[in-house]
Amino acid sequence: MENWENLEKICHSCTACGLCETRHSVVFGVGKRDTDVMFVGEGPGEQEDLQGEPFVGPAGKLLDDMMSIVDLDRTNSYIANIVKCRPPRNRDPLETEQEACIGYLRNQVALIKPKIIVCLGRIAAKKLIDPDFRITRQHGQWFRRGNVWMMATYHPSALLRDVAKRPEAFDDLMTLREKIKELGI
Ligand code: SF4
Repeated sequence: MENWENLEKICHSCTACGLCETRHSVVFGVGKRDTDVMFVGEGPGEQEDLQGEPFVGPAGKLLDDMMSIVDLDRTNSYIANIVKCRPPRNRDPLETEQEACIGYLRNQVALIKPKIIVCLGRIAAKKLIDPDFRITRQHGQWFRRGNVWMMATYHPSALLRDVAKRPEAFDDLMTLREKIKELGI
């Protein structure tokens, strides 16, 4: 396991998968490194690639609003993605790209030691919770993985495309608030 400094340095010069060829920035992650709650999305989009920070632009603004419902923000939680470089035209990251990159996220999780990980969208949920995860059926449910409680909700981009899903996402956040209370975070 690398320390933060080495991990960030290695990640920023990574060429382990083809996404390095089209990226502008490696989007490593943002937030508090000594936190109990992590949010994990699938990968950077256009704005994230340009600015080097996860979840900026309209989806990022919505994520900020979602986090504020449970008194979280970028100063008291940590936000990262499964892949650190943008897939062209925002396609889903390939399994090979996810496999090439997942070690960075695992290292981040090992350093942070969160009590809760919230997966944002189906790609993160499939990679971190269960390969057969069905976001429409299983969002808002808790899964224990070692010492970590894991839950998935809809990706903010999906909530921008389909506002009808927002009440369900709100219910997921209420579930998150309950878990935070239950764990004394
Ligand atoms: S997506 Fe991950 S594995 Fe691929 S080049 Fe970027 S940092 Fe390396």
